[in-house]
Amino acid sequence: MAATIIDGKALAQKVREEVRVRAKAFEEAFGRKPGLHVILVGDDPASQVYVRNKERAAEKDGLAGLVHRLPADTSQETLLAKVRELNEDDAIDGILVQLPLPKHLDELAVVDAIAPEKDVDGLHPVNAGLLVAGRDGLRPCTPSGCMRILEEAGVDPSGKRAIVVGRSILVGKPIALMLLEKNATVTIAHSRTADLEARVREADIVVAAVGKPELVRGSWLKPGAVVIDVGINRLADGSLVGDVHYGEAVEVASVITPVPGGVGPMTIAHLLENTVKAAELRARKAG
Ligand code: NAD
Repeated sequence: MAATIIDGKALAQKVREEVRVRAKAFEEAFGRKPGLHVILVGDDPASQVYVRNKERAAEKDGLAGLVHRLPADTSQETLLAKVRELNEDDAIDGILVQLPLPKHLDELAVVDAIAPEKDVDGLHPVNAGLLVAGRDGLRPCTPSGCMRILEEAGVDPSGKRAIVVGRSILVGKPIALMLLEKNATVTIAHSRTADLEARVREADIVVAAVGKPELVRGSWLKPGAVVIDVGINRLADGSLVGDVHYGEAVEVASVITPVPGGVGPMTIAHLLENTVKAAELRARKAG
């Protein structure tokens, strides 16, 4: 069977075109661009690249993007004061604290300090709770991107068996909840799951969000399974691979996302979408 290979870059462009239209409409209505502010603590090279990409993408799509760079030895109090300052600034719609933070900082306390209506990463307990309750809120970007991929690929999760490998707050758990919301029968697998291979073989939809290169083999898949590979793993030779063995899986799956160029570009597109959504919701609330 020839699998449909998802072009995440093209799909992300489609999402971002929608973002551009909404950002322009917002600016025309309210006289300012939706604002996305990112706080970066320290000088981790990967984080520097991520935040620069977010800032550039925001500006390209008609948002006002700004990165606040704080030194690695920033205290918890200074960081919380910065978050509060951004919370109170009416021209800022989205606040994102780039994780991981340096070890001496309390990440949970920092996430808790972000105003839920500006929490564009969807990590605040209020937004997590809204997702659990099946209510509208700001949802984590990568899971939203995965769901949009399924939608665009014409995959309706209703009645299907889905497995999500990985149970992180950022990816695994929210994807599982979103699949459940779409009426899939969902299994959440993790590092203690017994016989992962057998559990994967039962699934019509496989989402891998583990961080282990090529963990899921082609031979584990049910023929015709839909495979969403969230993993991004850099090998010693510098190449990037997912959590699924792509070369094997592409021979068995009906739909598959490559790494790179699958889920990755959708994450940033959904961050921008969340920012526009936050701006629209805040404006509506303000009357
Ligand atoms: P994490 O480390 O927080 O969570 C990993 C999860 O995998 C855990 O729940 C753990 O129980 C599970 N796990 C570990 N070993 C396992 C095993 N052998 N079998 C089954 N489950 C196992 O990671 P995360 O933040 O959820 O990220 C997962 C992957 O997705 C990473 O590769 C990360 O780089 C990638 N990621 C990609 C994007 C994107 O935009 N494409 C965004 C976020 C994360």
